[in-house]
Amino acid sequence: SEKRMLEIRLIAYGEQQMLLIARDITRVRQLEGMRKDFVANVSHELKTPLTVLQGYLEVMQSMAEPDDPNQRPLSLMQQQASRMQSMVEQLLALSRIEDSAEINLEKVVDMDKLLSILRSEAQALARDQYEVQFELESPLNIHGDELQLRSACSNLISNAIRYTEPGGKIVVRWQRVAKGAMFSVTDSGIGIAPQHIARLTERFYRVDNARSRQTGGSGLGLAIVKHAVNHHHSELVIASTLGKGSTFSFVIPQHLIV
Ligand code: ADP
Repeated sequence: SEKRMLEIRLIAYGEQQMLLIARDITRVRQLEGMRKDFVANVSHELKTPLTVLQGYLEVMQSMAEPDDPNQRPLSLMQQQASRMQSMVEQLLALSRIEDSAEINLEKVVDMDKLLSILRSEAQALARDQYEVQFELESPLNIHGDELQLRSACSNLISNAIRYTEPGGKIVVRWQRVAKGAMFSVTDSGIGIAPQHIARLTERFYRVDNARSRQTGGSGLGLAIVKHAVNHHHSELVIASTLGKGSTFSFVIPQHLIV
């Protein structure tokens, strides 16, 4: 017969008593699996038509004269198509990351290399409108998955820039701490009200839709970060003051440090 899946909890009451709770989660897991497959398949199927649309829009735009009244609608269409494309890519990245429950943590990640890639990325995004500072301890390498770490760190950095007004400051740190090695991104941005913080890593959760839409995000970035960080036996910590700025950080535990 079909395999059942049980979730078992053992709760101690005082010295002498224990409560054992078993819950059949077979159906819950099946539905969860179907949801994940569905999202992965849909986003995969959307990729090709979007690429075709974008290609033709680009051609049409380049053929229209600069004073052609179609220029503006064409460029709006192109912007939206490219937004959709990046959302589809984020969805695919999230389903890949959700799927890889057990990642291989044997490989050593060259953090100097990874951080220097992140630094150039950050400078490109900041376009001289922000002060971006990197404070890095070196050598400080870890066991992990390079792609997942890169996507976690790069999402945190791009958020810091997107949710900070031009002229603001972003500080990225990678340093030894008592319990391991800490990666953190601090911004002097718009900040987050306390009631939102616990929900930020949910898929599609956004504090201010107008601003998020304007900054071109998908609402999936922090869900991706959370999964990637969890895979490295760590938790994402969010500290923020509304109107002052935020710090997003995680500590890679000692046993993963090389
Ligand atoms: P998005 O694509 O909307 O940025 P994320 O999952 O990356 O999606 O972030 C979820 C929400 O968390 C954002 O919409 C924004 O409201 C908030 N947020 C994320 N990073 C920051 C930050 N550095 N400062 C202020 N708010 C942030």
